[in-house]
Amino acid sequence: MFDPSQLNTAFQFLTAWGAAFTAALWVSLVFWALRDIRGRTVDPLLRILAVLAVAALFLPGVVVYLVLRPNYTLEEEYQKSLEEEALLQTIESAQHCPGCSRRTDDKWLVCPDCQTRLKKTCHNCRQRMELHWKICPFCSAPAPVLRKEQASMDKSLPSEPAAEAAERSEIVSLLEDIEGDL
Ligand SMILES: [Zn+2]
Ligand SMILES: [Zn+2]
Repeated sequence: MFDPSQLNTAFQFLTAWGAAFTAALWVSLVFWALRDIRGRTVDPLLRILAVLAVAALFLPGVVVYLVLRPNYTLEEEYQKSLEEEALLQTIESAQHCPGCSRRTDDKWLVCPDCQTRLKKTCHNCRQRMELHWKICPFCSAPAPVLRKEQASMDKSLPSEPAAEAAERSEIVSLLEDIEGDL
């Protein structure tokens, strides 16, 4: 009943099947490594090394490759760089006082710390304007030049009326002197 040649055939079949399976696994792992490393580096030498490691060492090669491959894919690296750029931009776009470099608010006209002029207002529509704007973007009224702006700001300083008053009293006393002389 028992035929040793039948067993032999079955064994040969199993061996062939195993060999075919192993070969298919080997080829697909090499392809996988090639595809994976292409997504992770543009360095041709690293790509060749990765594929060679998997091709030469087979399953242990895959383990070695998994340990040594770059952590992030190029796509992930790109996303990360975009995120970093966006973060940098928000940090840079945060406004700082040119006088004391403290953080300022976009709505502020004057720095509350060092009283540096940050914005000016349109004399026509009272909208906030950047100091360097020459025309109001809201009502197209020409903006007063910075020197005038500075002057009008100086006038609002508390020391100015006192100086003006002193000047006036000086003139008055001078006029009185002249009157007295006459
Ligand atoms: Zn300041
Ligand atoms: Zn305006």
